[in-house]
Amino acid sequence: MRESYSYVETPVICPICGAEFENTDGHIRIVIGALERWYRIGDAIRWDRETEQERLRVAPLAPIYAFDLDDDYSVWRCARCKTLFDAPAAIVVANRITSVCLLTHEETRALFGFDRTFSGIVGYHPAESRWVIVQDYGDGSWKYV
Ligand SMILES: [Zn+2]
Repeated sequence: MRESYSYVETPVICPICGAEFENTDGHIRIVIGALERWYRIGDAIRWDRETEQERLRVAPLAPIYAFDLDDDYSVWRCARCKTLFDAPAAIVVANRITSVCLLTHEETRALFGFDRTFSGIVGYHPAESRWVIVQDYGDGSWKYV
């Protein structure tokens, strides 16, 4: 369990039936850039001295998917249509949060080509034409897997 996050204030809407997820407290929790920052859609990710190395690592990636890391809300099943999703992700392009998406595990696997449940950051590396997993090991260090 992490002690610190940043937050994206947005409703989480089921892409299948349009129902809003309840009990999210109106935000998702992500770990990218400086921590304890509050964002809305369209905001730029903010960085600080502690996250400079991470900034350099994710700079070549676009888009970046920063997945929700909320341990208290880890099962994303729509209350109305019962569709089960992976965690929602904030999509970051050119250092700005462009949207929040909710993908099923099948969609996640088809998009990234990895059969795993993400809880950190995945980004597309255009120069290498591949998706890169940026994994948080929980000790504050980030690295490419
Ligand atoms: Zn639904």
